[in-house]
Amino acid sequence: MDLFRLLGGGARFDKKRFKDDIKIIDPSAVDVDEQQVTQQEEDNNVDQQKALLNEIDFFKTTHTIVGGKKKASDSKKNKSKKEQAANGDNHEQLDEEDEEVEEIFQNQEEVQEFRKQNRIRIYGDDVPNPIRKFVNLSTPYYNIRPYIRRNLKENGFDEPTPIQMQSIPIIMKDRDLMACAPTGSGKTLAYLLPIIHDLNGPEKVGYRALVVAPTRELAQQIFREIKRISAGKKFKICMLTKATAATQAQDPKLRQKFDILISTPLRLVHAIQNEEMELDRVQHLVLDEADKLLELGFLEQMDEIFAACTNPNIQKSLFSATIPSGVETLAKTVMKDPIRIVIGAKNAATETIKQELLFVGSEDGKLVAIRQLVQKGLKPPVLIFVQSIERAKELFHELIYDGINVEVIHSERTKAQRDNIIDQFRAGRIWVLISTELMARGLDFKGVNLVINYDFPQTVQSYIHRIGRTGRAGRTGEAVTYFTKEDGPYLKSIVNVMRESGCEVPEWMLTMKKPSQNMRNQLRKSPIERKRINTISSYDKRKIAHKRDIIETSKRRKMEKQTVAKKSDEQSSA
Ligand code: ADP
Ligand code: MG
Repeated sequence: MDLFRLLGGGARFDKKRFKDDIKIIDPSAVDVDEQQVTQQEEDNNVDQQKALLNEIDFFKTTHTIVGGKKKASDSKKNKSKKEQAANGDNHEQLDEEDEEVEEIFQNQEEVQEFRKQNRIRIYGDDVPNPIRKFVNLSTPYYNIRPYIRRNLKENGFDEPTPIQMQSIPIIMKDRDLMACAPTGSGKTLAYLLPIIHDLNGPEKVGYRALVVAPTRELAQQIFREIKRISAGKKFKICMLTKATAATQAQDPKLRQKFDILISTPLRLVHAIQNEEMELDRVQHLVLDEADKLLELGFLEQMDEIFAACTNPNIQKSLFSATIPSGVETLAKTVMKDPIRIVIGAKNAATETIKQELLFVGSEDGKLVAIRQLVQKGLKPPVLIFVQSIERAKELFHELIYDGINVEVIHSERTKAQRDNIIDQFRAGRIWVLISTELMARGLDFKGVNLVINYDFPQTVQSYIHRIGRTGRAGRTGEAVTYFTKEDGPYLKSIVNVMRESGCEVPEWMLTMKKPSQNMRNQLRKSPIERKRINTISSYDKRKIAHKRDIIETSKRRKMEKQTVAKKSDEQSSA
């Protein structure tokens, strides 16, 4: 924003016109009639429900869809019953539990019908019944602590999303779970709520729950979500960083204070290898963005993490919006009699996102397309994905030259810069953010209106996750994917996703050939080589870089001053 001002503006954005959006990203910014917002949300929900898809058999194998009757002989369940008794909140006999359940559903037909209405598909044995509403969790059968209900209310989580309806009872019953649900459909709460419930309260015995996520940014977001749902219950939560690992290495007793650990694989493996971390008490292990974590590159690290979690009663959950069948087969080897949930169509995009494929001719056509979009009036915030760090930097130079309020994020930026950019983007102070694959998964930006795939995604999964940064929690959003002649052969995969999620696709695209497995593997390994994004003279680039340096330095000085002021405040109050 500062840079934007310094460069003297450029593209204009109509704050009045977009006041609803500004309210979403920064509620204090505009005074909008509450009722109007609620009505809008209701409309969105109705639209979403209208857009139901045809049912598809994803697993193409024989499978059993079993209703919710549970076995009385479930040893894990008995274990947790015992724990509940010890906590003083046990509740009577199994028959009575069944009665409670029957209050929610009269019979198994009703359960099946409810699942069908909510597009919940389940695969596995003895699958617990879903819940209809959060209030069901307050019955003695589930006996959720009142503070959790309170936290749900305070966060505006009035009703469970379909993934939450089904996964909460499954995790509460300590069953292993593989869950595939669309982007922005509330998967985080779907695993956090039952885990927080089961942990009951802080215990100072060491880590009892572990959540692994592929990026630091996502891990931080999960950390905040745990804080929200567990507010009032002083759980000790550790987000593993170099610093937190080092302090726990120095004082092993410190490790015992924590209940929950969130980490990226690499950081955690490092800590395990340096004996800075004991995971033998972990009762719940979650892999968020599980398919990413089980890809080559992370797989070896995940292997070590699984090996370090030695508690025989561990409950494991895998969550993602995309779970390719290869990953599913692999995942089954580390799970015990898992239940699989699929919400909606498997490996499909969220239906509230309007998707478009745009032919831009050549590489140069992409910049023309972006500039046209800006001229027409871009509705911020906008997220733009490119295929490499190099290209992210190049595009940034182009757009900043156009006077757009733009930032760029990739793994070469410092942690402080990345944190700052994400905060600013969330707060609506950055309007256009250029990113590499770093931001494709998991990050929850409520207000993002448009995702532009400047460079064609390398996999279908990448496409689904990238565009899933918009259209979250039932909101609408748009996604435009640019393609050139070179991308043509890969188009059909995306066309299929679009069609499955209810988007209109031009007739000619439907008749295209699917790329071969070989071609897809090739593209997965390395992106298409593209002409550089470079229309600005090196003199102008240097000028921009110089101005940028000035701003960064002044920001840093300001932050340093604030830190010094804060320290002296703390000292004087001590
Ligand atoms: P996913 O992991 O499925 O992509 P998230 O867990 O990030 O989705 O949730 C997306 C958004 O939906 C978040 O902002 C979250 O706070 C919100 N959310 C989650 N559960 C509910 C609910 N039951 N009601 C309303 N909003 C919810
Ligand atoms: Mg998520």
